[in-house]
Amino acid sequence: KQTYIGPEGVLEKRRKYFYPCTSHFYRNPPQLVKGEMQYLYGHDGTCYTDFFAGVSVVAGGHCNPEITRRTAEQLQTLQHTCTIYLTQPNVDLAERLAGVLPGRLARTFFVNSGSEANEGALLLARLHTGRKGFIALEQGLHGRTYLTMSVTGLAMWRADPQLDHPQAQAVEDVSFIPRPFERGMSREAAARRSIDALKEVLAEKGGDIAAMIAEPIQGNGGIIVPPDWYFPEVKALLEQYGVLLIADEIQTGFGRTGRMFAMDRWGVTPDIVTMAKALGSGVPVAAFASTDEIAASFTRPSASTFGGNPVSSAAALAVLDYIETHRLPERAERLGRQVLDGLRELAGRFPRLVSDVRGAGLMVGAELCADDPGRGAQLVDEVLEEMKDRGYLIGKNGVDRNVLAFQPPLVITEEDIAEMLAALGQALHAAGEVKGEIAHGVRP
Ligand code: PMP
Repeated sequence: KQTYIGPEGVLEKRRKYFYPCTSHFYRNPPQLVKGEMQYLYGHDGTCYTDFFAGVSVVAGGHCNPEITRRTAEQLQTLQHTCTIYLTQPNVDLAERLAGVLPGRLARTFFVNSGSEANEGALLLARLHTGRKGFIALEQGLHGRTYLTMSVTGLAMWRADPQLDHPQAQAVEDVSFIPRPFERGMSREAAARRSIDALKEVLAEKGGDIAAMIAEPIQGNGGIIVPPDWYFPEVKALLEQYGVLLIADEIQTGFGRTGRMFAMDRWGVTPDIVTMAKALGSGVPVAAFASTDEIAASFTRPSASTFGGNPVSSAAALAVLDYIETHRLPERAERLGRQVLDGLRELAGRFPRLVSDVRGAGLMVGAELCADDPGRGAQLVDEVLEEMKDRGYLIGKNGVDRNVLAFQPPLVITEEDIAEMLAALGQALHAAGEVKGEIAHGVRP
């Protein structure tokens, strides 16, 4: 039987052997030792319903038997060769992706992480257009390589000359424009302001810009869903200037938002789509896809040691089959409404705590104390801890870290959601009571 060193033992080794920048959630974090679909287990046997920890394991849940069986079979048959040798799982996967991606995005390049997919997409855009600049949204997040950190807007993740290390300056010519969201502004007005800024940048230097990169719905930025007209208008403007649109679907892809890809919701076909996280349901696999013409601009030798290896490809094929068989995008849409409705009901009960509820499918955020984000961030930490103790792992994000994030595996059930919402009502009540932020007469 496996013996566990426990959370304290894990923390001690992390402090000793990890880079000091390595962070973790919770004052008293659990040591996770087992996963079963939407459930995770601590070393002491505590069961947690996962509303965030598996943000990259959306499709089939943790250790989904159908997906792990097919992955394990491949692992025991042919584990690894790179793309310079012929194998079948990666070509089957590329064919499947061509079938689910919008428009003529039928070419896929396999890599190993989201950052690497975005890095490849950005380089590809430069090679194809012969231009150097990029446009990105403020508060976006695109990865942790040098170039992707440079198009990342969120200060916490960005390569930035304002930070303490001038050596970590953003590397490239990147024009940031406001995202389609601003505290105290209507969604429409914020989106309009973003479009106006885009027009200005394009008018000034559109001819030097290779691509705009954007998350269709910002994840780490705090779950930002733009108005329906926003991305169609962005795409049309970019086309006028021959600027490519790179959709970073790393967090939104594969059913999470109620569509296979979030851009599908608005009928927008990007020029390049990047994918990772959910695609392998826990096994590292990532890709960027584009059209025949754009793909033809990539003329460098392209072998990647692990990109498109048989095991990752077999896992991704099993994931795509599972998503299709179980109609997971529809499921995410339906259950997402339950989460949104439940959170809105809580916002009605706790108006001084819950300021805004937003999301699409099973990518939902609840912003706490928008007028006092410091207090909001403190509350979020308290609620996260309290919910963990009650058996629910939820997430946090947003510029001020004051947004509760709900991104469960798509196999979550109505009962799981109803129970979580009931517990959340109690957790909010307990957290708000301390400072008298609960209206008189509201019950836990
Ligand atoms: N883009 C988005 C939208 C992400 O959420 C992330 C990861 N949080 C990345 C890129 C980077 O992906 P990876 O960690 O696999 O490099």
